[in-house]
Amino acid sequence: MITVLVCGGGNGAHVCAGLAASHDDVTARVLTMFEDEAERWTAAMGQEGLHIAVRHSGSEPSTVIGKPAYVTKDPAEAMKPNVDLIVITVPSFAHEQYLKALKPYVRAGMTIVGCPGRAGFDFAVRSIIGEISAELSIMNFESLPWACRISEFGQSADVLGVKDTLAGAVQKSKSADGKLDPTAAFQKVLGDYPKLLTRGHLLGVTLSPTNGCIHPEILYGQWKDWDGKPVAKPPLFYNGLDEETAHLISGVSDEVLATAKAIMEQRPNVDLSNVEHIFQWYLRTYPDDIGDKSTLYTTIRTNKAYTGLIHPCTKTDDEQYLPNFRYRYITEDLPYGLTVLKGIAEIAGVPTPKMDHVIEWAQEKIGKSFIVNGKLTGSDLNITRCPQRYGFNTLDGILGMSK
Ligand code: NAD
Repeated sequence: MITVLVCGGGNGAHVCAGLAASHDDVTARVLTMFEDEAERWTAAMGQEGLHIAVRHSGSEPSTVIGKPAYVTKDPAEAMKPNVDLIVITVPSFAHEQYLKALKPYVRAGMTIVGCPGRAGFDFAVRSIIGEISAELSIMNFESLPWACRISEFGQSADVLGVKDTLAGAVQKSKSADGKLDPTAAFQKVLGDYPKLLTRGHLLGVTLSPTNGCIHPEILYGQWKDWDGKPVAKPPLFYNGLDEETAHLISGVSDEVLATAKAIMEQRPNVDLSNVEHIFQWYLRTYPDDIGDKSTLYTTIRTNKAYTGLIHPCTKTDDEQYLPNFRYRYITEDLPYGLTVLKGIAEIAGVPTPKMDHVIEWAQEKIGKSFIVNGKLTGSDLNITRCPQRYGFNTLDGILGMSK
């Protein structure tokens, strides 16, 4: 029997809790600390449990029913003895709250999963949980396993698509010896799909925040020479990409690969082969959606999964549009994406002129200071997950070998 604690109250948490609870040999609980979600979820769920409508690979939707043992806002109740797997399924800005709340109850041999964990999840776990984190298994996945939406809060959710595979990495605890392997345990919770592919060092997932390599760069490409005047309609975000911006995205990705290479040269026993170029990532992630796979530029422009997606904008009184820079493409993808990559590159001794340029432009748009003269010494590092923010200033520190 596996006991899983799902942390969060959103789309992913509903699906994860419902699927987990549907297995006879899994007990699921939910911890949601946001507003009155725990009370609302408990009241809405009643005796029935969660109904999850799943569509996978064009198949007819099937409904999975699972009832979590309970939903609570109290971390002590959530962590009553025998939690094996803690799955954190909230947007990155909320991870810290859960890690801090769970810290007193975390025990050697447990597994903490960031799904998605995204860049710097490993740093946050080690820093917040402290010494005992060396005795935990830590897993980080690049994304959520599903495209999903709550249909009725606390009652039902729709899985609009299930990924075939989900890439991640695990740092196994020695105290987990004799227990079910962390990847196998999480696979049991999710069911047959996506197939979990965990390989390489945990840092490899932190070095793969695709949103941070794409979104601020596309905003920069579109608006760097903007004259400040409203535009007639919001430009297409991905499908409207120009070649120069595609080169920039590719260049930022090259800097990430150079960072991984530099780390592996300095620590030959560390496997960062799980870090891939953004072009490879597109080909792997959207095998059936891309019309023209010849270059990164054509790949993004012809990706059907992006059809109709536009630049975030606000409407003016006379029905024109202004770019909205205070959108997650900067407010999240800088602190939980690009600045983390910059921080790791700095420690690895790799110059990153392209990243620096984008960060300098984008930080100004949200009134923050992350880098100054190409160095991560700005006054707002405390809102990022770059390693320096946690006091990890060496290769061993970022690899979890020491501070
Ligand atoms: P969501 O938007 O449904 O998450 C909302 C939940 O987050 C809330 O219900 C609450 O529990 C918590 N939350 C929100 N604001 C909070 C705050 N200020 N403090 C504390 N908690 C707060 O998220 P989701 O759709 O479940 O996605 C989770 C992550 O997966 C996100 O990073 C998202 O970008 C990513 N993702 C989602 C999908 C999808 O289809 N839903 C697909 C791929 C990736």
